[in-house]
Amino acid sequence: MQDKAAEEFFALLARGEFRTTRCRGCGETHYPPRVVCPACLGEDMEWVDLPREGTLVAFTQQRDAMRCRRPEVLGLVELEGIGNVFTRIDAPLEDLRIGTRVAFDTWTSPDGVVLHQFRPRS
Ligand SMILES: [Zn+2]
Repeated sequence: MQDKAAEEFFALLARGEFRTTRCRGCGETHYPPRVVCPACLGEDMEWVDLPREGTLVAFTQQRDAMRCRRPEVLGLVELEGIGNVFTRIDAPLEDLRIGTRVAFDTWTSPDGVVLHQFRPRS
């Protein structure tokens, strides 16, 4: 579902910003961003920065990628205080371990969509 919060998330991402929503009513931060707070059902949201570093907690490689005609690595990155983000990983499978520290970046797909990705910290 492409709601207003998702639209804004991808518009921010296209400018290199990695942000999500926080409820002004109860202070809860959500990822993915929400229009309505799942904790208190409030609709007064503000945008806050997400951590730009995290820890790899799971990863795999898909043989036929959706937006890319080559194998692509996908994973779950734990962001402190937020939870897990499902994301593209910009590294070969053999360079990755559970617990690898990774840093945020953006990636533009061949059809022009800007997505988030993480890569091992150098
Ligand atoms: Zn709330």
